[in-house]
Amino acid sequence: MRETNLNREDMVDRQIRSRGISDAAVLAAMLKVPRDLFVPIESRHHAYEDRPLPIGFGQTISQPYVVALMCEALKIEARSRVLDIGTGSGYAAAVMAEMGAKVIGVERKSELEEFAKTNLIRAGYPTVEIHRGDGTLGYPQAAPFDAIMVAAGSPALPSTLKNQLMIGGRLVIPIGPSRHHQHLLRITRQSETDFSSETLGDVTFVPLIGEEGWNDTS
Ligand code: SAH
Repeated sequence: MRETNLNREDMVDRQIRSRGISDAAVLAAMLKVPRDLFVPIESRHHAYEDRPLPIGFGQTISQPYVVALMCEALKIEARSRVLDIGTGSGYAAAVMAEMGAKVIGVERKSELEEFAKTNLIRAGYPTVEIHRGDGTLGYPQAAPFDAIMVAAGSPALPSTLKNQLMIGGRLVIPIGPSRHHQHLLRITRQSETDFSSETLGDVTFVPLIGEEGWNDTS
């Protein structure tokens, strides 16, 4: 217990704060969420390392820094309504729930939907709602959202997703012409019809597979 707390302090200092993340709520949440409970048991001892880790089914839990960068860019606040696409292990969803957001997750793979649900309950985040489905279509039943996090790379911006943002809402999504290399973008809905876009850097995510993403070749 004490050791994992020290590992987390070290992770936040060396990997996150020192790389320029300054949102106090993001730093506090990353200090608190037990990342070791979101990785397969055989990888526990790697949980606080500066890299993504396999979670099975060809998928990964994102690098801690990337989760922090996305949370900061999304400007998550207490009571923000957030859609988490590609919930995977549930770790990013837990960080946003720890920040006080109401999080709804969509995961394409049923095994990972179950993995995320189990992890979130065990880690103390039972209010996160996870659904199995194609996240490229968003989650219209609960739209609009203050923030949408997409944790898989898309060939183009899914128009359904940006239309599920509130005015002023933010969407952070990796977009790129290759399945394994993307630019991380933040799209902000300025009005009913206007959206602005900023690039946050180059990233490597697993592909977003679905109707408005890549084809399934598996
Ligand atoms: N946020 C996760 C990262 C998981 S990796 C974490 O913190 O662990 C990305 C996830 O996106 C994978 O679990 C993959 O199955 C999922 N995914 C890919 N395409 C998807 C889609 N169209 N809808 C929902 N999930 C999708």
